[in-house]
Amino acid sequence: MRVANYYGSGDIRVESVAEPAVGADDVRIEVAACGICGTDLHEFEDGPDLTPDEDTPHPLTGVSLPVPLGHEFSGTVTEVGSDVCDVAVGDEVTANPAMVCGDCRYCAEGRHNLCESVANIGLSAASGGFAESAVVPASNVVQLPDSVPVEYGALVEPFSVGVHATRRSGMQAGDSVAVFGAGPIGISIVQAAKAAGATDVFVSEPRAKRREIAEAVGATETLDPTATDAVDEITDATNGGVDVAFEAVGIEPTFRAAIEATKRGGQITAVGISDDDVGLTPNELVVVERSINGSNGYLSGPLADREFEMVTSFLESGEFDPEPMITARISLEDLVDEGFEALLDSESEHVKILVEP
Ligand SMILES: [Zn+2]
Ligand SMILES: [Zn+2]
Repeated sequence: MRVANYYGSGDIRVESVAEPAVGADDVRIEVAACGICGTDLHEFEDGPDLTPDEDTPHPLTGVSLPVPLGHEFSGTVTEVGSDVCDVAVGDEVTANPAMVCGDCRYCAEGRHNLCESVANIGLSAASGGFAESAVVPASNVVQLPDSVPVEYGALVEPFSVGVHATRRSGMQAGDSVAVFGAGPIGISIVQAAKAAGATDVFVSEPRAKRREIAEAVGATETLDPTATDAVDEITDATNGGVDVAFEAVGIEPTFRAAIEATKRGGQITAVGISDDDVGLTPNELVVVERSINGSNGYLSGPLADREFEMVTSFLESGEFDPEPMITARISLEDLVDEGFEALLDSESEHVKILVEP
C-alpha cells in the first residue's frame, strides 16, 4: 500500500510498504480522508518534535523515524482482530489518535490527555492516516452516524479540540466569547461555543478568507487586527470585555489581546501551542480576578469517545458544519506539493486540506 512516511525536517516520502498486520485487538481502516494539521506542518518545518527520532524510540509504541504521518482521518473498516467485538467490517469510523499508558498518575486521575507517555497514531505509532489504510486499536475507534459523510469524519479530531477547549473554559450558555485566530482550531472553537450557547462570538483574524469562514459558521462579528483595534472594538461592544476569550495562535500579540478583551472576573483559555514568551503582569489577573487556563487536545484513554461523540452528534444535527473549512481535497501523491507547501505559504487561503488516498 502507499503511505506518507516522515523521515525528518523537510523530508516526507510517499512510498510503497507492506500492509501492517492486524493484531487481536486492532482494526484496519481503509482511509477515506485525512486532514493536514498544524502539528504536521510543524514537524515538516522544524521536527522531529512529537515524532520520535532514531535514537529515542517512543516508550509506549517502540517506533522511531521514519513514521507515517496523519492523525485526523476517517474511513471504512475492512478487517477486525479476533478479539474485537464492537467494531465490524463495513463500519464507517474515525479514530481518536491518542494512545495512553494507563499507568502514570495522570492516567490514574482520569486525565489521559496529560499522560506522561502519550503516543499518537500518525506521529508516534506504527500507522498513520496519510496512507491507503491504517491499523489502530479498536478502543480508539469512534463510529460515525449514518447521515454523516465518511470524509467529514476526518474533521472530528480538530472539532474535538474545540469542544474540549470550550469545556475547559467553563463557558456557559448566554456568555459572550472572543476567539483570537481563525485557523482550523479557532473555527472549531467558534462552532463549539455556538453549540454550547454562546451569544456574541467575536473573531479576530488577519486573513480575509478565514474571517469569511468564521462568519459562515456563526461568528457574530469578525475583526481584522491589522486594520482595527480589535480589543477596543470588543470591549466597546461588550460593556468592558467578553466573558470568555480563547487564544488559538500562541503568539504574544494575540495572547495579550485575549487578556485585554476579557472582562473583570472573566476567563481566558489558551489553546495555541507555543514556547513564546507572552508578557504578562500579575495584576492583569489579580486585581481584576481574571483566570487563565490551558486546553490540550481532548479526552482520551477510556474516556476517548466522549468528546469525539459530542462532535459526531453535532455533525449529525448540523450544528457543526465542516464544509466551509475544507479548502482543498488532494491525492496522497500530491501531499507535499499541494498540501504541506500550500499551507505553509503565508499568503495561502487554505484552512483544512483533506488528503483522499
Ligand atoms: Zn491535529
Ligand atoms: Zn499515562
